[in-house]
Amino acid sequence: MTPTTWFEAYLQRSGSRRVGHMWQCPGHRDASPSLSLTEGMEGRVLVKCFAGCPTDRIVDVLGLSMSALFESPPFAPERAWRDSRAQVLYPELEAGGSGGRGPRLGVPIETGFHYYTDDARLRRERFAGGKKRITWEERIGRTTWSGGLSSITLAELPLYRQVEALQGALCGEEVIVCESESSVDALFDAGLYATTWAGGATSPNLDRLQTVLSDHRVLLVPDNDIPGLDCSRRIREALIDKTASFRELLPAAGEDARDILRTAGTEAFRNQSFAPAL
Ligand SMILES: [Zn+2]
Repeated sequence: MTPTTWFEAYLQRSGSRRVGHMWQCPGHRDASPSLSLTEGMEGRVLVKCFAGCPTDRIVDVLGLSMSALFESPPFAPERAWRDSRAQVLYPELEAGGSGGRGPRLGVPIETGFHYYTDDARLRRERFAGGKKRITWEERIGRTTWSGGLSSITLAELPLYRQVEALQGALCGEEVIVCESESSVDALFDAGLYATTWAGGATSPNLDRLQTVLSDHRVLLVPDNDIPGLDCSRRIREALIDKTASFRELLPAAGEDARDILRTAGTEAFRNQSFAPAL
């Protein structure tokens, strides 16, 4: 048993519950798990509370000493927990929550990832009954990810599939700017060039869009709903004078770029008669 597996078993014995890759932190009232455990050199435990609890406090609350992180104590975790006489009160888990994967939705029936960088990705989950959940994750180890972004902000992320979109743009292709990563993926699959930004309709990354797409040809395809239309107005204002060409294609009410692709195919994006929509 490495110190990591020992510590994990001990933490579980203390009553901490795990959601996704994260455990409830014993150092603070943690209703939305924010403690990550990863294995470092020689099996030692790397403990990180994303709410900021210092490691020595976490260890202390659990009735352990720091040496337990480097070398498994001589007793089984169950017995060590019993002997510690430590008591930790963990709150009930919140559904959803910041970075937490709430337990009430159950197990996703479909999980996909959209990578913005090697170290930041969007986890997209679909549940029985049609519920969806999207959460950001950041790499904290070679194969370990934690919920939420802590070392980079959404505004600092590149556009989604930015490098590929730029490759198309530099070859004179029109770049489709739409509102979801799934749409971008579908458009690329259909042989088109597309991108979106991190953060959704409420916070279009206008600076990044300007920086990347200036002097290129842009086709904006907003989601046709109230936030989507408001967002598209802001993007239009930011890009219309900066780009080599700018046009818009408006999906039917309630629909998005992927719906156009599904119903009208790639020609809809190439056919000038579809634009300008507004
Ligand atoms: Zn904590």
